[in-house]
Amino acid sequence: MKRIAILGGGISGLAAAFALEEQRRVGVNLQYMLFERSPHLGGVLRTEKVDGCVIEAGPDSFLTEKPWATELCKKLGIGGDLVGSNDAARKTYILVKGRLIEMPDGLMFLVPTKAIATAASPLFSPGMKLRMAREWFHPPHRASGDETVAAFVERHYGLEMVDRLADPLLSGVYGGDASQLSVRAVLPRFAEMEAKYGSLGRAMLAARKKARSGAKPPLFTSLKGGMQQLVDALLAALPAEALHTNSPVIAVTPEDNGWMVSAGLQSDHFDAVIVAVPTAAAAELLHMASPELAGELRGIPYSSSVTVALGYDRKVREALPPGFGFLVPRSEGKRMLAATFVHNKFPGRAPADRALLRCFLGGSRDEQVLDLFDEEILRLTREELRQVLGLQAEPLFARVYRWKHSMAQYNVGHLERLERIENLRRGLSGLALAGNGYRGIGVPDCVRSGQQAASELLQSLGLIAADTAKSA
Ligand SMILES: Cc1cc2nc3c(=O)[nH]c(=O)nc-3n(C[C@H](O)[C@H](O)[C@H](O)COP(=O)(O)OP(=O)(O)OC[C@H]3O[C@@H](n4cnc5c(N)ncnc54)[C@H](O)[C@@H]3O)c2cc1C
Repeated sequence: MKRIAILGGGISGLAAAFALEEQRRVGVNLQYMLFERSPHLGGVLRTEKVDGCVIEAGPDSFLTEKPWATELCKKLGIGGDLVGSNDAARKTYILVKGRLIEMPDGLMFLVPTKAIATAASPLFSPGMKLRMAREWFHPPHRASGDETVAAFVERHYGLEMVDRLADPLLSGVYGGDASQLSVRAVLPRFAEMEAKYGSLGRAMLAARKKARSGAKPPLFTSLKGGMQQLVDALLAALPAEALHTNSPVIAVTPEDNGWMVSAGLQSDHFDAVIVAVPTAAAAELLHMASPELAGELRGIPYSSSVTVALGYDRKVREALPPGFGFLVPRSEGKRMLAATFVHNKFPGRAPADRALLRCFLGGSRDEQVLDLFDEEILRLTREELRQVLGLQAEPLFARVYRWKHSMAQYNVGHLERLERIENLRRGLSGLALAGNGYRGIGVPDCVRSGQQAASELLQSLGLIAADTAKSA
């Protein structure tokens, strides 16, 4: 019987465990053990229920167009509990000079596709509108190398677009900085569009025409019980004896025909190992096996974030603007990066007489916010909500969640680094890497990375037939 260790019990490690479990159930002769440092499984996926509200401490949903999390939910028997975002009510505001301005209709991520709505929007200055019109005539351009998202967006639309949209959108997704993030790693579709069409506007329109047939799926998907439901369903599907919480792995050493994994006071031999911890932790564990690989893993930076959930009564709910929430450009000088009106975004997140707000702070430019006491984080969040929304009411409840070094930053050169990591990893037989440090930080990408890592090891151990799976 072959034995596989999984290090890290976030969604990546759990998805890997479930992929192994599926094979075990159909008779593949294997045993696996998952080691998680903390008392909880699920990593940053955590949901709390307070006063009838569903509070997401970490991710609140995933992109519907990436299928891997949805498919996993269906396999786990919770497909009936998937819920789509209320896209009919989707409106997002940008804070500009202290005022909330609605993003115009037809803006696809940051690419305007509706000329009249864009021209009429107070979000953009006349100069920027002119740049947008000129962008339409950009000739196809294949960049010779990688560049930052900020440089790429500036080439197309100018600096105002970087400040007003690109930077806040990326802060919201990555807790990242557009002047550091790699366009090829973070917005690969945009780089391809530029190569083929030149103009992003024309490329988006062409893509939209192709996709026009049929009903549009919701942009975001979540679960009725919140993201924790996915973790709970995974735990119900995995044998309890395979899951070891409060078990920090302290060393992973290559041996003849396998790996020695040391967790706490115990060491155990495995035929193969899936390392599904953040890359800095992976670097510590793999330093003895390959200092070069550890060096590359250490080179992937992570940012930290804080989410603040605030519950209010009916009066506040009635007074808040419609829509999903707002983003705050850096030039506004606030610590808050974004806020979501959770009660509008998904059905069933708050009773009809409650408003639920979720605010994001931190990111790569404000790691210091994590050093503040909860009271101070709450004070400054409420003060900024007062400035932006005029919201003075006392919250009915408040929660602060800290996520230190939890969001990988795919900076310029990330894809080249991944190639080096992949080459070094291949030199270490029986090792697979999974997690948000590599090819996507969203929940569906992490699910896929865990599944691929599992599939690759099953193949290399000769337990299943070869396909094209590739970890990291
Ligand atoms: C606040 C926030 C909001 C987000 N919002 C969204 C969203 O809306 N949609 C979306 O798709 N994505 C979102 N993301 C991103 C996504 O949730 C994460 O990228 C993903 O869940 C990471 O999963 P993971 O398993 O790779 O890592 P993690 O969840 O970080 O899990 C890694 C696990 O490894 C464990 N570990 C570390 N070292 C060791 C060790 N030595 N031994 C044993 N265990 C160890 C840790 O304790 C942890 O449990 C968000 C992330 C955050 C933080």
